Amino acid sequence: MQINLLSDTVTKPTQEMLKAMLNAEVGDDVFNADPTVNQLQAKIAELFGKEAALFFPSGTMANQVAIKIHTQPGEQLICDKWSHVYNYEGGGASFNSGVSCKLIDGHRGMFTAGQVLENISNREDIHQAITSLVVVENTANKAGGACWDVNELKRIKNICKEHGLAFHLDGARLFNALVAKDEEPKQYGALFDTISICLSKGLGCPVGSLLLGSKKHIKKALRYRKVLGGGMRQIGYLAAAGIYALNNHIERLAKDHRNAKRVSEVLKAVDYIKKVEPVETNIIIFYTKDFIDDVDFVNRLQIENILITGMGEGKLRMVFHLDVSDQMVEKLIQVLSKLKFK
Ligand SMILES: *Cc1c(COP(=O)(O)O)cnc(C)c1O
Repeated sequence: MQINLLSDTVTKPTQEMLKAMLNAEVGDDVFNADPTVNQLQAKIAELFGKEAALFFPSGTMANQVAIKIHTQPGEQLICDKWSHVYNYEGGGASFNSGVSCKLIDGHRGMFTAGQVLENISNREDIHQAITSLVVVENTANKAGGACWDVNELKRIKNICKEHGLAFHLDGARLFNALVAKDEEPKQYGALFDTISICLSKGLGCPVGSLLLGSKKHIKKALRYRKVLGGGMRQIGYLAAAGIYALNNHIERLAKDHRNAKRVSEVLKAVDYIKKVEPVETNIIIFYTKDFIDDVDFVNRLQIENILITGMGEGKLRMVFHLDVSDQMVEKLIQVLSKLKFK
């Protein structure tokens, strides 16, 4: 039995999801002729109270297209120094949109409205890049699945309005935040101009992300997706997995959160761990004591068939998901409790 805690992207479709995929009615989506894709897009738009949505092959492409919609070359977006759009999208903001990122030194991947205000450039000063977009990430991945305070997001939204800035949410794991904080999708739909959501993380689909926004934004997004080579054909098979996940895999995220919490308590109790970051959703970030090499630690677990990620600088990560069974959690706790280091 392998226990794969590398990411929530490692899940494989369940039998029921596969059945839904096989039974999908499909057509050529580049001709807007795939009924299942249209059904998924309408379903998610309605859920968040947005006018429209568009299916994407990846969250990266959805974020990149959002940045493209909201900016002109030479302009600047504001994001946290730990954000996915800055760290993990291959420099796409500059490659695709010709914009720079103004990085906020936030707390656990999150920042305040005051910090946004401080980082908006002066439009009257020709030396400065024009600020046009603010990007936030919920949950904040690099911070261990931390959840934003919706009231802070409202304050940031007001600043965006006052200064004519677009507001984009990288919601790769937004459903984890909604479940953890017992919040409504429509609250988020009302706050952001565009939202990206991954179907291929906690929701358990093999592929797919969605971008939500106004009709005008999604019309532009359709063109940019085509330019990036993201126009796909009979993807109703993938959209069917998305519909299945929205119907069946949202509430169960609470189970991943409980598992992560429980294992984090075990990590806090053993004598070889230095620090465990607060666990709010399905991710645990922790550090071993200084005398233990983090690479050695990852290898020790690998011998027990447990896969976790070393993020460098002693930072270690476990991610809980659909394919982590109760039996696996028991085995994991057993192994962690017994590990000895000299
Ligand atoms: C996974 C992820 C994305 C998108 O990643 P893809 O692998 O391109 O789907 C975007 N933002 C965050 C925070 C993520 O964790």
